[in-house]
Parts: sequence; C-alpha cells; structure tokens
Amino acid sequence: MITRLTVIGVGLIGGSLAQALRAAGAVEQVVGCSRSRANLERALKLGVIDRFVQDPAQAVQDADLVFIAVPLGAMRDIFAAVKGRLRDDTVITDGGSVKGSVVADAQAIFGHVPARLVPGHPIAGTEHSGVEASFPTLYRNRRVILTPLSVTDPEALDRVTRMWRSCSAQVTTMDVAHHDQILAVTSHLPHMLAFGLVDALARLRENDEIFRYAAGGFRDFTRIASSDPIMWRDICIANREQLGEMLRRFGDEMLDLATTIRRGDSDHLLEIFRRAKDARDRYIDSTDS
Ligand code: NAP
Repeated sequence: MITRLTVIGVGLIGGSLAQALRAAGAVEQVVGCSRSRANLERALKLGVIDRFVQDPAQAVQDADLVFIAVPLGAMRDIFAAVKGRLRDDTVITDGGSVKGSVVADAQAIFGHVPARLVPGHPIAGTEHSGVEASFPTLYRNRRVILTPLSVTDPEALDRVTRMWRSCSAQVTTMDVAHHDQILAVTSHLPHMLAFGLVDALARLRENDEIFRYAAGGFRDFTRIASSDPIMWRDICIANREQLGEMLRRFGDEMLDLATTIRRGDSDHLLEIFRRAKDARDRYIDSTDS
C-alpha cells in the first residue's frame, strides 16, 4: 500500500498509473504535479488525483513514492527541483521511454544515481496524450521494464515491482544500455518510419489527393505518427546513438529495395518479402499463444 503517491506529469502515463493503483486499492492519496494549472484542474475533476501542487519541490513532501512521467527533456529540471526535498525513505521511479538519459540526468543533478531511484519504462501507451487520454487498464497484461543499477536499493526495486504488479503489469528487469538498444528497434524506429512517411507524403504537391485515396492499411501503418511531437523529439535526442544506427541500417535496406525494384529483380523481391512475412507471422503466433 502506497500512502502518498506524487505523480509529476499527470498525462497519459502518469494519469493511468494513478488510476490503476486507485482501482487496485493500492494507494491512499495521489498528489498531482504538472506545469499547467488547467491540466491539474482537469485531473482533479476527472478524479485521477486527490489534490495538486504545482511546485515539484512541495509536491514530493511526505510522499513515500514519486512517479515522474514528464517528457524526457524535462527530467533533469524535475530532478533539480526535488533534490534535497525527498524523505530518506522515499522511492522515486519514472516512466521515461529511454533509460540512459534518465540515469545520466540523475547523475548530473545528484552527483550519483540515488539508491532509491528505480528507472522504469512501461511498454504501454497510445498515440493520444494528456490526462483525458489516461485510463485505469492501460498497464493490464503489459510489460514494464525496470533498469536497476548496481547501487539500486533492493527494497526500492521491490516496492516499484509490487506497484506495477498491482496494476496487473508484467515486470522484467534489464540493463540500461540493453533497454535503449531494444527499444530503438521495437518502438523508436517504427515511430520514425511513420513520422517520416507521413511527412514525405505531406510535402508532395499532390498531398490532398494522396490522403483522400489512402486506404485502411495506410491509416493503420501511420497511426503512431499522431503521437506527441515534443515527446518524440525528446526520445530521439535521448536515444540518438542507438536510434541513429538503426535508421542507418534501415536506410540501407530501403536503398537495397529501391535498387531491386528498379532492376526488376523479382527473385530478390520475393526473397525479401518472404523473409519479412515469415518473421512477422512468427511474431504474431508467439504473441497470440
Ligand atoms: P503526456 O500525456 O503529454 O503527459 C506529460 C505530462 O508532463 C503532462 O502532464 C505535462 O503537463 C507534464 N509536463 C510536460 N513538460 C513538463 C515540464 N517541463 N515540467 C513539468 N511537467 C511537464 O505524455 P505521456 O505520454 O504521459 O508521456 C510521459 C512520459 O512517459 C514520457 O517520458 C514518455 O517518454 C513516457 N512514455 C510514453 C508512452 C506513450 O505511449 N505515450 C509510453 C511509455 C512511456 P502540462 O500539460 O501541464 O505541460
């Protein structure tokens, strides 16, 4: 049971955690903290938080658990604001989509990575943002990756693990660098493809006509290009090494495809499409079973 949870960044991720914990009866009081008062008033009205405090330093007072769910570019300022304001036994965790940058931000502000900071990332979300988009079942049967360091207090790790389990999430742990590498491939690269495709089409002169005739497949493939631009700018910058390398490899694949098509090399095209179809069918089978 969490006595006082402070959520800094009451949007999709922070708001959904607050609602899931409340639905599970796992939290007594939720204090919200964000930049804009209007957002916090909406969160209060929706019953996502019990009260709000706009200043992060005051918001964490007497919290036993602090969850930070702001865009990655704001993480360092939040650490700076709460430094020296936390109780000795307060556990801090976050939901940022890149973990290396969060650890580096903590190191820069605290001078070391605090033992009671447990970096985390729920592998759940939608293309919508803001507290209105949050819902209590977002984390049900979804994975949450925690990336504890050698200095992390096992008791803090256990608290955060239990917190996520009470939202019916499946918790796994992973090394920070490994997390950022895996997510560059499985999440960040597909978002770049969706943003890049829609941007390329939007810049074509005939773009009105193109979008008019686009079918359901286009809608499915590009859904994630409706995600929040600031959040994605921050993710790209925070994971630029890993994502840059994946984009380079993907660019090579696209060049190969373009050359194959221009040459009319049907054998090579079939080879590429069959390999891709087999891999996707295996992935779908493994997630369905
Ligand atoms: P969101 O719905 O836009 O919510 C972000 C929240 O952060 C808002 O309450 C916003 O408050 C607040 N905020 C923004 N800038 C701030 C600042 N400088 N100082 C204090 N508060 C600030 O975003 P989200 O989707 O919940 O994402 C939050 C975090 O979760 C990000 O780090 C993201 O990488 C991670 N994440 C997202 C997803 C996803 O699918 N969306 C999935 C997993 C992890 P105001 O409205 O008042 O500015």
